[in-house]
Amino acid sequence: MSEQPDIVIDVQDLVKTYDEGRTRALDGANFQVRRGEFVSITGPSGCGKSTLLHAIAALERPDSGTIRVNGEEITAKRDLSSYRAQGIGLIFQLHNLLPNLTASENVQVPMYETKRSTGARRERAEELLRLVGLGDKVKKRPTQLSGGERQRVAIARALANDPPIILADEPTGSLDSKASQQALDLLRDVQRGQAVTLVLVSHDSRIAAAADRTVYMLDGKIDAESTDRSPEVETDAAASRSSPVV
Ligand code: ADP
Repeated sequence: MSEQPDIVIDVQDLVKTYDEGRTRALDGANFQVRRGEFVSITGPSGCGKSTLLHAIAALERPDSGTIRVNGEEITAKRDLSSYRAQGIGLIFQLHNLLPNLTASENVQVPMYETKRSTGARRERAEELLRLVGLGDKVKKRPTQLSGGERQRVAIARALANDPPIILADEPTGSLDSKASQQALDLLRDVQRGQAVTLVLVSHDSRIAAAADRTVYMLDGKIDAESTDRSPEVETDAAASRSSPVV
C-alpha cells in the first residue's frame, strides 16, 4: 500500500498494549488514508480509536507494526519533533488552549517551532482566526469565548504551520449540537479549501457520518468501513459478517 503515491497514512499491523500486555488497545490494526481524504474513525468506547490516532500523531509508540506517513516510517524515526510541529495539526476534545494567552497568541504557539518572525506569526494567526470566523476576537482570552469559539481557535491553531494532515480526537465532544455542527462544517470547509487530509475520531456515528469514509473499529482492529456515497460495507472483514454494518 505504501507504494501508492496517493496513500498518505499507511498503518500496518499496529499493536499497542497497556498494563504489561493485559490491555490490547490495538490488536493488529490496518488503516490507510488517501491524500485529501476526510476519514472518520468510530466505534464503541475503549475500542482503540484514540490510541490509533495518538500513534499516528506520534504521541504513543506502538509495541509493533508500522506507520508510514508520506512514505516515511514514523515508527522508526528517532526525532519526531519536526513531524509533530509541521507534519500534522492536532485538535482535541478539550481544545487545550492556554488560559493566559489571547486567541492570537494561542494560535501562534505551534509557530514557535518554526523560523517565522514575531510579525509573521501574528499576521498568520490573525489570518487563520479570520478564516475560522473569529477575526474580531483575536485579543480575547479563552474564558472570554464560548465553547464553540474556543474550538474554532483550536482549529486555527492546528492549521498554524500548514500541516498536510489534521488529526482530530472527538473535536465536537464538549460542544452543544449547534456548535458541534458548526465546528464540523468548519473542519469540512478547511479540509476542502486548504486541501488537507483530515482524520477524525468520534464515538458518535452522526458526527462520523460527515466524513467521505467512515472506518469502524472493534477490539483494537478495523472492523468495517463505509462511504457516504455508498452505505455498503466494503471491507473483506465486513463482507464475511452475517449482519452488515452501514
Ligand atoms: P477509544 O478511544 O476507542 O475509547 P482508547 O484508544 O482510548 O479507546 O482505549 C483503548 C483501550 O486501551 C481501553 O481499554 C483503554 O482503557 C486502554 N487505554 C488507553 N490508554 C491507556 C493508558 N494510557 N493506560 C492504560 N490503558 C489505556
